[in-house]
Amino acid sequence: MCNFVPEYKVKKDMIDTTIFQDKTAVYYTLGCKLNFSETSTIGKILQEAGIRTARKGEKADICVVNTCSVTEVADKKCRQAIHRLVKQHPGAFVVVTGCYAQLKPGQVADIEGVDVVLGAEQKKDLLSYLGDLEKHQKGEAFSSPTKDIRTFAPSCSRGDRTRFFLKVQDGCDYFCSYCTIPFARGRSRNGTVADIVAQAEQAASEGGREIVITGVNIGDFGKSTGETFFDLVKALDRVEGIKRYRISSIEPNLLTDEIIEYVSHSRSFMPHFHIPLQSGCDEVLKLMRRRYDTELFASKIRKIKEIMPDAFIGVDVIVGTRGETDEYFESAYDFINGLDVTQLHVFSYSERPGTQALKIDYVVTPEKKHERSQRLLALSEEKTRAFYAKHIGQTMEVLLEKPKPGAMMHGFTKNYIRVEVDGDHSLDNKLVQVKLGDFNEDSTALRGIILGMSDNE
Ligand code: SF4
Repeated sequence: MCNFVPEYKVKKDMIDTTIFQDKTAVYYTLGCKLNFSETSTIGKILQEAGIRTARKGEKADICVVNTCSVTEVADKKCRQAIHRLVKQHPGAFVVVTGCYAQLKPGQVADIEGVDVVLGAEQKKDLLSYLGDLEKHQKGEAFSSPTKDIRTFAPSCSRGDRTRFFLKVQDGCDYFCSYCTIPFARGRSRNGTVADIVAQAEQAASEGGREIVITGVNIGDFGKSTGETFFDLVKALDRVEGIKRYRISSIEPNLLTDEIIEYVSHSRSFMPHFHIPLQSGCDEVLKLMRRRYDTELFASKIRKIKEIMPDAFIGVDVIVGTRGETDEYFESAYDFINGLDVTQLHVFSYSERPGTQALKIDYVVTPEKKHERSQRLLALSEEKTRAFYAKHIGQTMEVLLEKPKPGAMMHGFTKNYIRVEVDGDHSLDNKLVQVKLGDFNEDSTALRGIILGMSDNE
């Protein structure tokens, strides 16, 4: 059952929060940084209403699951997570939201133990759907059609260590042939520069030093407010207290030369880029309905490296999309091999119902997908290792992070090299000067020696 009730809303000030006092909640998030950031905001709203986060092992009164639907495997993981939580917290009121909930509300509502399913537009009003926490006989789904997903719900969350994740934009208007995000998250929209700067200032007042700027298609920022992503970058650069920004992922056609040039001399934007390529073959890019070709992509990499030779560049690649023949993959591999980039994030194509890609006849076998993915992962390792090795012996500024129990203290350089050091907790979230040594045992970081505090501290 799916009730389309876009008008359904209970005003926050009308909610009787006395029933929430002493209640507990658990949160489970799947998927991207955006989802984690949104869960954290939902958690803050529930906390303000008197609902505290359940301790480890404690039975919760409310379970909130924020789902992802990027692949079929993601859908399956969501269902498994819901079953697990229903079992671990018998009698708890179960709310499921996120992309899977938006795309398949009826399917999710049918899962045993689920009370309420909320689509993308309803997510931010989760509190008003808790009612009196009485379990429903059957799950009820509330979601709006994609065209009505219009609200931008701001969120800024502290990651599990020192970083904050600041959502600046949501949704996407691109409709790439393999992607369901525009259906799950709606059209592109954003907060205003002023609102986002206020959130960054709030993060700084809570001790934040580093912010990762997140969104679905962040280069598209400003469409709904008559501003641009470049305006936002310049305004954020002026926020006192924030020492570092990282731009999480930006479409190559939206990464303008003026942004690249600004980053190269900005106070706080790090020489670190994450650019989705998806395929290194023009024919496949056309099938994917991407808005650039390999020449444009290569020109962006050249531009970055020309003015920031030590910039870290992460690149997303999808292998095995429909239409990717052996010949096309080989040409994509050669193109990627020739790019001066640091790391590849390799994804295997997954068929998504309702997407245009399903109309392409040529299907890649799972074995071939696996083989292609292994080859690109090996290439990625080679590139990352060479990038790290080039920096051995240099002295660089590192922002130290709280390690996991039993792990060594670590942090990242401006250009995202992971560094392990001997240090104590008093150095958490501090900028230090570190002399970079050789690789650690499993080659996941460089060992470093702290020389002193950074002048920037
Ligand atoms: S740009 Fe393409 S791949 Fe990225 S979210 Fe939009 S539709 Fe999906």
